Order: sequence, then C-alpha cells, then structure tokens
Amino acid sequence: MKLALPETERNRLKHALKSRNRRPTRQRTCVYEVILEKRDHPTADDIHLRVREKLPSISLATIYNCLDTLVECELVKQVHLDRAPTRFCPNRNPHAHFHCRVTGQVYDVSLDDERLSIIEKTLPDGFTADTIELSFIGQGPKSDTIS
Ligand SMILES: [Zn+2]
Repeated sequence: MKLALPETERNRLKHALKSRNRRPTRQRTCVYEVILEKRDHPTADDIHLRVREKLPSISLATIYNCLDTLVECELVKQVHLDRAPTRFCPNRNPHAHFHCRVTGQVYDVSLDDERLSIIEKTLPDGFTADTIELSFIGQGPKSDTIS
C-alpha cells in the first residue's frame, strides 16, 4: 500500500515521533495523513471512517492511541468545543477556531503575534499562559466551503 503523505510531513512525523522514542507505524502515519488530507477538524469517529478505507481492520481504540501519540508529539492539537466530541487539528500556526452553529463546520482563524500578545496582556498580573484556546461560535459564511 502506498501512502500519500508528502515528504516534508513524513519527515516531520518521523522526527517528532523519534524524539519521543516512538516509531512511525503504518497506523500512525495513516491517521496523520487523513488529518492533513482534509482539514475539516474531524472527530475520532470521522478519522476512523477515513482511515478504514486504507486500513480496513483498524479499530477505534487504535485510532485513539494514534491520536494520543500525535497530540503528545505536538503534531496535532485537540479542539474542544462546547458539548461536542473532541476534534483534531493539524494547523500548527497560532489560530482561533470558528464554530458555525448552522453547519457544524469548524474554521481556522489565524492569529498573528500582535493579536496574540494583546490577548495575553488581558491576563492579570501573576498569570502566565502556556497556550491560548480561543473559539468563536456563530454563523459562518453562507457557502459551506472552507477558504
Ligand atoms: Zn484548527
């Protein structure tokens, strides 16, 4: 079976896993590939369905294990939205999420350093943030394409 993961992404995966003494198994590679392929913030169930087209016998438990590893290696981020299953995002640049109430789609909203530092400055003295999770909830554009 031939995997379509681009060389740069394949190397990123290999290095990130290696730095944590993990191997780029076929399952992990395939899960990462599926998340990069369609950047629609899939849930573990969505990922399971997509990976099964390539690895028909893979279990949901294995998908969860792979996702844990990818999150641990900082290749993929978990996206927690109110009363919804965790979604997964491969965008490593600082960004917020926009959750469309109508279509259920989740969009990336990029945040530049200037905006990030403004948000960080709203913290009271004595607080330091390791990460910022910012999400908007509302109605997205009428067309349901992700730009
Ligand atoms: Zn995202």
